[in-house]
Amino acid sequence: MSEKFVMGVDIGGGSTKLGLVSPDGKIVARQRVTYAKAASGERILSNYANAIDDLMRGQKVERLAGIGVGYPGHILPDHASGDDSNVLALDGMPIADILKRRFQCPVRLINDADAGAIAEHRFGAGRGIDRLLMITVGTGIGLAFLVDGVPTSTANGCLGDAGHVIVVRDNAVRCRKGCLGCLESVASGEAIEAYARRVRPGHKATSATAALVRDTLDGNAQAIGIISEAGLWIGMAAASWCNIFAPRKVLVGGGISAAGGILVDAILAETKRRGMPSNVENTSFGIAELGNDAGIIGAAAQMF
Ligand SMILES: [Zn+2]
Repeated sequence: MSEKFVMGVDIGGGSTKLGLVSPDGKIVARQRVTYAKAASGERILSNYANAIDDLMRGQKVERLAGIGVGYPGHILPDHASGDDSNVLALDGMPIADILKRRFQCPVRLINDADAGAIAEHRFGAGRGIDRLLMITVGTGIGLAFLVDGVPTSTANGCLGDAGHVIVVRDNAVRCRKGCLGCLESVASGEAIEAYARRVRPGHKATSATAALVRDTLDGNAQAIGIISEAGLWIGMAAASWCNIFAPRKVLVGGGISAAGGILVDAILAETKRRGMPSNVENTSFGIAELGNDAGIIGAAAQMF
């Protein structure tokens, strides 16, 4: 094939999604690599390389235009390796150098929240938005702010740890990273699931989020209550983010965003109630369009 394909690699806690992406943002072939918690970094990277080989062979691609990697943590200044992620074995590994040697093409890492936002800006619900804020509620909460499509970096090769903005004073608990009363401690996918499991004991742990979203869309009052409560917490943080960044549009992505309007309406109402009017009155809110593909597409799109 003669098109200039880029491999997008979206690294997650227990598995990584890889996709061969065309310049118009389409994933033409994909694979998922899973790994055991105890797997070494070398083993994980070797599995990535095998998956990339498979995908190239399957599509008869002889050479890649590049490999873009979305990393779930901090990014080192050379964008060649990452740190402080939930895949400890990969922290500090020279990921870009290893893949570059093997595939003889440019390789670059970015933070996974930045990757999702780039995808939405180029191909999704953020098209044409000059000041785009994207909140990704996954296991944790990722935040990205793009000006004309370029991610803003404030610390650690990304927007710092903005998902950990402090929102709770009384009865605060520590998050897994150690802050007291941050947004992740009350509204991350992990926190919402833990709460949902406590108050809805009949649901299996592995499907707590999916069950919650399904019941919310079915009109179940308890599920709607849990999602709306999470939305209020996120809206409280979003009011501060709007005061800092004055975004034109705020997008909400990640697994819980499948709850749609109920979640966004709660976030929007609380943001507008608390934020400085001049920073929030002209801001629109919406749901990300690309779903689980945003990470792959955005990681690849940084190389186009
Ligand atoms: Zn925290």
